[in-house]
Amino acid sequence: MEVQTCEHPACSCQVKDGQKFCTDGCEAASRDVAKNDLCKCGHASCGSKS
Ligand SMILES: [Zn+2]
Ligand SMILES: [Zn+2]
Repeated sequence: MEVQTCEHPACSCQVKDGQKFCTDGCEAASRDVAKNDLCKCGHASCGSKS
């Protein structure tokens, strides 16, 4: 079984089958990665570094 992960380059959250991004915020951020190099999904595993 293949694990799908979020397409945002800085995000490694798992996504559900058929989805590309873990959250809408992550999808929005991925449209402009130059400005959003950290995803804003709010998951503890991403972007938790201050
Ligand atoms: Zn994330
Ligand atoms: Zn994500």
